[in-house]
Amino acid sequence: MSYTFAIIGRPNVGKSTLFNRLVGQKLALVDDTPGVTRDRREGEARLGDLRFTIIDTAGLDEGPKGSLTARMQQQTETAIELADALFFVIDARAGLTPNDRAFADFARRANKPVILLANKSEGKQGEIGAMESYALGLGDPVMISAEHGEGMGELYDAVRELL
Ligand code: GDP
Ligand code: MG
Repeated sequence: MSYTFAIIGRPNVGKSTLFNRLVGQKLALVDDTPGVTRDRREGEARLGDLRFTIIDTAGLDEGPKGSLTARMQQQTETAIELADALFFVIDARAGLTPNDRAFADFARRANKPVILLANKSEGKQGEIGAMESYALGLGDPVMISAEHGEGMGELYDAVRELL
């Protein structure tokens, strides 16, 4: 198998949108409707001349009061184990939430390379959230818009360093 990234982060930050953009097919479900459990998905990503495997950790929904369910944690841990490196995604418009910090703990404990992605940053709207994300201790954020395809050059540079 080629070098594999797991896309990690709390629900609704844009993981599946990023997956679909990089795989170039609508293999992952993009949905903001709560209450649906979906499977882990894998695909071959293309980013310029780079090729790698990505795993979308599926749309498991938050439990009561936005808590992380055991199932969500399990799925994230399995994806992290399978991966060589992680894309850790936040919603830069929303800013950091307690669940971002909880997922970041998993990511740090994995001891694998992490690329921190401040998504939904189109039109520079994510600048404040991106600044906040330094507090996660996962390195410098790469500002992207998975939906609009912005920041893909910076993402390319970050990925190329790891391959
Ligand atoms: P996931 O739960 O992390 O997989 O998130 P999804 O990919 O399902 O996206 C959740 C919501 O965020 C959807 O309504 C997407 O259209 C939206 N979204 C994803 N990426 C972006 C982005 O770059 N900018 C904006 N404004 N919205 C986005
Ligand atoms: Mg999803």
